[in-house]
Amino acid sequence: MTYVITAPCIDVKDGTCVDVCPVDCIYEGGRMFYIQPDECIACGLCETVCPVEAIYHGDDVPSDMAAFTEINRRFFDPAVSGLGSPGGASRAGPVEIDDPDILKQAS
Ligand code: SF4
Ligand code: SF4
Repeated sequence: MTYVITAPCIDVKDGTCVDVCPVDCIYEGGRMFYIQPDECIACGLCETVCPVEAIYHGDDVPSDMAAFTEINRRFFDPAVSGLGSPGGASRAGPVEIDDPDILKQAS
């Protein structure tokens, strides 16, 4: 089970978590960041630095944020962002794309 970024990151996305991730698996979308579940090694460092407490271990995601486990996974689907598993967010760069459920959320 990997870590998951949830709603408080939307339109905040300050990037603090990116700076501490040892495997560079936190990717920038248009309105939030997403954790690549196949690349995350579940070290937990990102959770400790997020200023808005948006990051949870997959087993601890609050029930009202449960959809974000799938949202983080689906973002990397070739049909959504086209990213797949690039093996490094800095190499992939930001994309101006979000999961369809994030685009529906009010700003
Ligand atoms: S748990 Fe560790 S490896 Fe996974 S996204 Fe957070 S910092 Fe990166
Ligand atoms: S530290 Fe929190 S608010 Fe900042 S980009 Fe990461 S998940 Fe989003």
